[in-house]
Amino acid sequence: MLRDTHIKINIDHLENNITSIRDYCKGTRVGAVLKSNAYGHGSKYMAKALYDMGITTFLVATLLEAMELKNENDDYNVIIMGHTPDKYLNQVIDKKITQTVFTYDQAKLLNDLAEQPVKVHVKIETGFNRLGMQITEDTASTIKKIADLDKIIIEGAFTHLSLENRASDLKQFNKFMDLMNEVEKMGVKIPIKHVCDSISMVLHPDFHLDMVRVGALLYGLESEEKGVLDIKPILSFHTKPSHIKTIKKGETISYGNRWIAGEDSIIATLPFGYSDGYPRNMYGKGQVQIKGKFYPIIGVICMDQCMAHVDKDVTLDDEVDIINENMTVSDIAAMAETNKNEVVSRFTPRVPRVYIKNKQIIYVENGLIK
Ligand SMILES: *Cc1c(COP(=O)(O)O)cnc(C)c1O
Repeated sequence: MLRDTHIKINIDHLENNITSIRDYCKGTRVGAVLKSNAYGHGSKYMAKALYDMGITTFLVATLLEAMELKNENDDYNVIIMGHTPDKYLNQVIDKKITQTVFTYDQAKLLNDLAEQPVKVHVKIETGFNRLGMQITEDTASTIKKIADLDKIIIEGAFTHLSLENRASDLKQFNKFMDLMNEVEKMGVKIPIKHVCDSISMVLHPDFHLDMVRVGALLYGLESEEKGVLDIKPILSFHTKPSHIKTIKKGETISYGNRWIAGEDSIIATLPFGYSDGYPRNMYGKGQVQIKGKFYPIIGVICMDQCMAHVDKDVTLDDEVDIINENMTVSDIAAMAETNKNEVVSRFTPRVPRVYIKNKQIIYVENGLIK
C-alpha cells in the first residue's frame, strides 16, 4: 500500500452477504454484477474472492470490463449485459465472452464470425425502454431464428424491471414470461431466464427464475432487505492527515477563501479529494471521524486534498475515517444528493483497495501499477 488514503474491503462481510443471498434464493444461480470496477470495490480481486466462494457467473456492462476479467481467469463465465458494437465482436468470440443481443442481425453476425459455438443472452424489452428486443407478434419467431443459427447457443434471456411498484414489475414480468412460453412452444429451450436485480430479488422472490443478477446487495449497499436478509456493508474509506497546523482568527481556507476562522483553529490537511471519488458537493456538509469523534470538512474540497477543522486530540498518526459504520455510503449519498451506487462507482483507481479477511490484509490492489 503506497498511500495512506485507501479503501478497505471486508471479505468476511462479503461471505456473509453471499451466504444470506444464497439462503434467500434457495438454489437459484447467483450472478455477480461486477460492472464499473465492481461498483468501485475492485473487480479483479472481487471476482477472485467470489469465485473462491463458488460464484462463477459475472456480469459486466462493457467489452473492456469483460476482457479484464477473462484475462484474469479464463474459467470465469462473463456476460456483457450492454451492447458491443459490431466491429468489436471478434474480441467477444476470441475471449469466449457471452454477449447480450437484442437484434437478429447482430446474432447473425456473431454466428458468421465464429468458428466455434458462441453463447448469447437475448435481452427483451418489457417497459424499461433502455435496451432490448421490442415485443411484437414476430419476436418469438425472431428468437427461434437466432436459435437456429448453427453456431449460436441461446444460453439465456432476460429483461430489466423499472421498479416503480409491484404492479408495474408484475406487468413486465408477465410480458417476459408470455414471450418465453411462446418461444418454448416453438421448441426453443432457454436454460437461464433472469429478471431480478438486487431490489427485485428481495421484493419479488417469485421472479427469481434461473438466475438473479446481484450488484448492490452483494456489496452491502441495499436497504430494501432490512429485516429480510442479513447484509453488511463491505467497504470503508480511510486516510491519515498530511499536515496539522493552527491558523489565526480571520485566516481562510481553500479556494475563494470561503471558510473564515472565527477563532484560532487547528486544521488538518487530508490527502483525498474529488478526484479520488469523494463528491465535491460535500462542501459544507462532509465530516470525517478520528478516534470516534466527528470533525467537519471545511472550505472547498480540492482535487486531491481537503481540510478538516480538528482539535488538539488529533495527531499525524491518527487514522481518519471517511466512510465507516457511522458515516456510511448511504449517508454520503444522501448528503451528496445521489444514490449509493454512484458514490461507490466513482472511487477512482488511484485509491488502493485493501482486502481484509480475519482482520488480516490478504491482498492490495494498487490500481495504477502492475
Ligand atoms: C447494474 C445492473 C444490475 C444490478 O443492479 P443492482 O441493483 O446493483 O443489483 C442488474 N441488471 C442489469 C441489467 C444491470 O444493468
